[in-house]
Amino acid sequence: MDELDIQPFTPFTRSDQYSPAGLEVESPIFQDLPLLPSPLGTFVYTQFKRLPLSDRLSALPLLYAVVDFDNSDEAWRRYDSVTARELFKQFGVSERLYRESFEPMLLVGLFAPGEQCSAAAALGMLYYFILAHQPDFDVVWCRGTVGEWIFRPWVQAIERMGGAVLANRRVSDVRLSATGDRLSAVVCGDEVFAADAVIFSVGITGMKKIVAGSSALRSRPEFGNVSNLGAIDVLATRLWFDRKIKIPKPSNACFGFQPTTGWTFFDLNALHDEYKNEPDTVVEADFYHANQFLPLSDAEILPLVQQDLAQCIPDFAQAQIIDYSVIRLPQAVSHFAPGSYRYLPPTQTSLSNVFLSGDWVVNRHGSWSQEKAYVTGLEAANLAIAQLQQGTFAKIVPVEADQPHIAAARQVNRALRQLGSKVLPSFWLP
Ligand SMILES: Cc1cc2nc3c(=O)[nH]c(=O)nc-3n(C[C@H](O)[C@H](O)[C@H](O)COP(=O)(O)OP(=O)(O)OC[C@H]3O[C@@H](n4cnc5c(N)ncnc54)[C@H](O)[C@@H]3O)c2cc1C
Repeated sequence: MDELDIQPFTPFTRSDQYSPAGLEVESPIFQDLPLLPSPLGTFVYTQFKRLPLSDRLSALPLLYAVVDFDNSDEAWRRYDSVTARELFKQFGVSERLYRESFEPMLLVGLFAPGEQCSAAAALGMLYYFILAHQPDFDVVWCRGTVGEWIFRPWVQAIERMGGAVLANRRVSDVRLSATGDRLSAVVCGDEVFAADAVIFSVGITGMKKIVAGSSALRSRPEFGNVSNLGAIDVLATRLWFDRKIKIPKPSNACFGFQPTTGWTFFDLNALHDEYKNEPDTVVEADFYHANQFLPLSDAEILPLVQQDLAQCIPDFAQAQIIDYSVIRLPQAVSHFAPGSYRYLPPTQTSLSNVFLSGDWVVNRHGSWSQEKAYVTGLEAANLAIAQLQQGTFAKIVPVEADQPHIAAARQVNRALRQLGSKVLPSFWLP
C-alpha cells in the first residue's frame, strides 16, 4: 500500500463474538494493552462473558503442541493426519472451550468444523492469526471493496510500468515446449499467449478445472494430485435495512447457530466510506462451510440471515430489508482437510518455467490466507526472475520472529526430538 501511495485501511477495530445465547466475547485492541509474553495477553485480555476460568485454563497443555508445531515439513507430517478436534481432545481441552472458542476460530479461520480440519493447519492458522504475538489478532479493514481501493490502483501502477492486465480471460489449456520440460504458451479459449514463464494464481477448484482440460498438466503428479484436494462452499450476503441499527462493533464472528457453519457480520456503515452517512444500515454477513444454504433461493436465504442477525442484535428483528445481494460461492475456499498436506504443491513445479501461488501452496513463511496468497505470489515471481535473469527481486518481509521464550522452548524441543530419534527405533506413527 505504501508503494502505491494509498491508504485504504480503517484504524484498528475491536470485534465481538456471538452465539444464539447473545454476546459471548469482546476483544480489545490488544496492542493498546501492556504487552505480556504470548499467548498470555490473548488469554488475559479477551473478555469472555460466560466461559468459566476453569475451561479457559484447560487450554494450557495445548501450548506444548503450539511449541512443537514449528511449520517445518516434519511438523506438518506429524500433525496433518490428525483432525483438529482430536488434537484438542488429546491435549485435554474442555468440551465447552472447544465448542465456544476453538471451533468457532476454526470455522472462521479454516472455514470448516474441527473434525474436518487438519491439526497442522489448525495450529499454523491459530499461531499466525492469534497466538504468536499479542497484537496479532488486531485487524484493520479495507474502507471499501478491495477491487476498487487496492486492485484498481495496483493495476494502474502495473500499466504505467508497461504491463497489461487482461481481465475476463479464463485459462483453458497450456502448450508444452518442444523439449517437453517447459510451457511455451497459455491458452484462453481461442486466444494463445506465448509465455517465457507461467505463474498459476488460481484456487484449488480453478486449478482442478484447468488440469482436467490439459493433457500437458494432468499426467504430472503434482497437478494430477490437485484432484485429491478439496474446497469449501461460502455464502456472502449484503443487506440494506430501512433504519439505523446500533451495531456495537464493526466486525463480529458467530458460532453455534448451525453445527458445521460459522459466520461473520460487518457493519459497513462503520467500515466503508461510501456508507458512512447513509440513514439506513448496511451489513455484510458471510457464512463459511455454507453447504446447506447454497441450494436455497434468495427469498429463502434472506429471512434466515435476518433471524440470525436478530439473535445477536434484537433490533434487526423489526427492521425491513430494502435491498440485498446474495452471492453463492461453491467450492470457493481452500479446505485443509486431515491428510491433505501430502498433496499440497510447492511453488516450483516439475515444469521448469511454471510456478504456483495461492493460500494452498506450501511455503515456510508462516502466513495464512490472503497474506500467504500474496507472499507465495512474490516467491513465485522471484523464482521466475531468477530463472529468466531479468527483473528486480521482490522483497519478502518475514513474519515477525517467535518471542524469545517460544524460540527457546522450540530449540529445546527440537534437541529432545533429535536425541529421541537417535536412541529410539523409528517404529511408531509420527
Ligand atoms: C467471504 C470470505 C471472507 C474471507 N475473509 C478473509 C479475511 O478476512 N482475511 C483473509 O486473510 N482471508 C480471508 N478470506 C480468504 C481469502 O479470500 C483467500 O485466502 C485468498 O483470496 C486466496 O487468494 P488466492 O489468490 O490464492 O485465490 P483467489 O482469491 O481464489 O483467486 C483466484 C483467482 O483465480 C481466478 N481463476 C480461477 N480459474 C481461472 C482460470 N481458469 N483462468 C483465469 N483465472 C482463473 C478466480 O476468478 C480468482 O480471481 C476470505 C474468503 C472468503 C470467501
